Amino acid sequence: MDYEKLYERAKEKISESVDQERFEVPEPEVMNEGDKTIVKNFSKIKDKLRRSEQHMMNFLRRELGVPGKVEGSRAVFQGRITERKVSEKISQYVDEFVICPACGKVDTELVEEDRIKKIKCEACGAKQAARQF
Ligand SMILES: [Zn+2]
Repeated sequence: MDYEKLYERAKEKISESVDQERFEVPEPEVMNEGDKTIVKNFSKIKDKLRRSEQHMMNFLRRELGVPGKVEGSRAVFQGRITERKVSEKISQYVDEFVICPACGKVDTELVEEDRIKKIKCEACGAKQAARQF
């Protein structure tokens, strides 16, 4: 047995799991303004998740049940929505569209094949159809 190699391998495993833990979705900064709800750091969250603005907004409009649009780096929704609710929906988005269903890692991208959106994992190579909308 080559202990040097074993040691290297163990070290790699450890750094992998550390990377996984380091993936933290920024908490949404939510502000109610009149009858609108503003997610101030929307583009920061979107960049972290590496998903398109359009896909995330389609999801949020659908899940929150209100119209909404992007204004600069912020997302603006009609109606008063609590920070907790926005945070809950973003977690749901991560579970559904960012985390690989096969290996649980976040190194994924959303691809479209034959008009079907799929989660493609760069870590394990799995490709699975996502919920369509
Ligand atoms: Zn995977």
